[in-house]
Amino acid sequence: MAANFSGYKCSLCGREYGPNEVTYTCPADGGNLDVVLDYEAIRKKYRIEDVISRTDFSLWRYLPLLPVSDPGGEGTPLRAAGWTPTFTPTVLARELGLKQLWVKDDGRNPTASFKDRASSVVVARARQIGAEVVVTASTGNAGAALAGMAAAVNHKAVIFAPRTAPQAKIAQLLIFNAQVILVDGNYDSAFDLTIQASQEFGWYCRNTGYNPFTAEGKKTAALEIWETVLLNLKSDRPLTIFIPVGDGNIISGIHKGFKDLKQLGWLEQMPRIIGVQSEKSAAVANAFFAGTETITPVNATTIADSISVDLPRDGVRAVRAATQTGGAYLTVSDEDIIKAIAPLGRVGIFAEPAGATAYAGLLKALKTGLVQEDDPVLVLNTGSGLKDIRAAMQAVKEAPVIEPTMEALKKHLNV
Ligand SMILES: *Cc1c(COP(=O)(O)O)cnc(C)c1O
Ligand SMILES: [Zn+2]
Repeated sequence: MAANFSGYKCSLCGREYGPNEVTYTCPADGGNLDVVLDYEAIRKKYRIEDVISRTDFSLWRYLPLLPVSDPGGEGTPLRAAGWTPTFTPTVLARELGLKQLWVKDDGRNPTASFKDRASSVVVARARQIGAEVVVTASTGNAGAALAGMAAAVNHKAVIFAPRTAPQAKIAQLLIFNAQVILVDGNYDSAFDLTIQASQEFGWYCRNTGYNPFTAEGKKTAALEIWETVLLNLKSDRPLTIFIPVGDGNIISGIHKGFKDLKQLGWLEQMPRIIGVQSEKSAAVANAFFAGTETITPVNATTIADSISVDLPRDGVRAVRAATQTGGAYLTVSDEDIIKAIAPLGRVGIFAEPAGATAYAGLLKALKTGLVQEDDPVLVLNTGSGLKDIRAAMQAVKEAPVIEPTMEALKKHLNV
């Protein structure tokens, strides 16, 4: 057992459980469980300098704040998850009139999405509890990440995905040698089937908004933002962070990371967290706008497949990530999502539609005045554009085809 892992607390009823008492959700009400750490012990044992001086340039540098012990796997992609680059695209900042802008590119994870953070930590947990098979339902990225992280350390993975998932993501599942089962239905139906199968066959289920360890993996992005941006931030305004939201587990994981730092006394000012959803998959945003934590399912149809979710599985905590940080939710059209791929591309960042959704959210926030020029802003790109090139091609003009002659070239260039 990891030294600093002291148990769970239900996000709905507040009941507490020991580390070995439960596995997934609250037995009383099905609420998502927050992992509780022994903050006192961590504070006694570590100073900030001890953590930020570690030479492990991956999310494993934050092992002292994670509820798993070192999973091993040195020299494998499991050790390469996290510690993604945080760019400062000055061209975009100037265009938008922002004084400080960062784009954190989580497309540059081993399997090219943010989901590697969760999947690497879940695989670590599976190894610790001796679970031989890991399984997940996925719109594509969570599955690719679990398959990739499992393959890295020779662990067996079973993945359920909708048959409509983008080809590149299905290719990843197969290449990483997972047992891939495509479901003739949507993500939500794959989700329910996965839980039933894991109960019947004793598989360890990674499902988002079900397994409490995914948020712990995802919180490492907050720890990286803290270390690379917040510790050096020169502003009296809080950092505003834009995060795309589907199930709501990334946003709640990132919120958890900042809350952990706050508990430790290592964070002065809580960032303002802004969740961005497609208008065509807006269940969490709808709840936020209505001022409630009750999530009403929608019929999701957005082109941004990674955030196309009827019933968000981590909706309550996702709403709180905004309400408890002075943040907000925004919805953007699918057209705006596709359009937002282009400006990121102009500064060398290739985002899949779900990732570009965060940037589309920033553009809208500037229009509505939710963000002003003095606000320091960070946009999180959650996945690589190579994941869905069909969507990417809609963001650009097709390339011309010419005869391979100077004459044709000059004619095309108009010279
Ligand atoms: C999963 C995913 C999201 C949304 O994360 P949730 O935890 O479902 O809110 C956003 N972008 C990408 C690329 C993803 O894979
Ligand atoms: Zn409960």
